[in-house]
Amino acid sequence: MINLKGIKKIYANGDIKVAALGGVDLHVGEGEFVAIMGPSGSGKSTMMNILGCLDTPTEGEYFLDGTDVAKATGDDLSVIRNRKIGFIFQGFNLLPRTMAVENVELPMLYAGTGGKERRTRAIAALESVGLGERIHHRPKELSGGQQQRVAIARALVTNPSIILADEPTGNLDSRSSEEVMAIFQRLHAQGNTIIIVTHEPDIAEFTERIVRFRDGHIEGDEIVKNPRKAQAQVIGEEGGPE
Ligand code: ADP
Ligand code: MG
Repeated sequence: MINLKGIKKIYANGDIKVAALGGVDLHVGEGEFVAIMGPSGSGKSTMMNILGCLDTPTEGEYFLDGTDVAKATGDDLSVIRNRKIGFIFQGFNLLPRTMAVENVELPMLYAGTGGKERRTRAIAALESVGLGERIHHRPKELSGGQQQRVAIARALVTNPSIILADEPTGNLDSRSSEEVMAIFQRLHAQGNTIIIVTHEPDIAEFTERIVRFRDGHIEGDEIVKNPRKAQAQVIGEEGGPE
């Protein structure tokens, strides 16, 4: 489903050029659960931004379900960006003064979904990540782990088949990290394709395949033999911000 061939990315700021990706080939099949690892500056975020159509490669081909992403324009591109792919960031990227349920409604607002349906679907998405009791909370009234689960609900509300998460547990303690990974494992079991970036070997072991980046190239690609099973502790939801 995801096919990258010879992907290069050169950032140019005036005379300064940085080669962030030096020709990456990568195939990710439908339903795979992949961790991208590698040192800081090795091109992981650049890769994720290209995969999520938040950025374009300088060279190379990106096929998504047979569609040449470079040639997709206007509506096609917005369908890919807003419906096919859900993107999750390390820093949550929630609107700070806006309730959880309204944050989750945003992608549907852009898609023109009616108000009543938006609310119903946003509540269902929040319930699916264990936050049914927190829908009217604002981000600062939630713990980091809860905020990331709001961001996951927002990414899921349009039913994307592909979930991309750039260091989703980078700002979380180990318990919240495991809860987030439990959600990803459940989505994987439901057939979603998931690619996460992580620094932490412990987190990568929850996935089924590890792709290692170094200096803008893939230097390793291995199957995780016995993926760890994440324990979902989110159910109770007792207690407010940690
Ligand atoms: P990682 O996520 O693995 O830490 P990045 O993809 O963020 O790596 O960065 C890869 C390289 O590209 C680094 O050398 C980084 O400094 C550079 N880079 C990333 N974004 C930009 C940008 N917008 N402009 C210039 N250089 C950038
Ligand atoms: Mg990064």
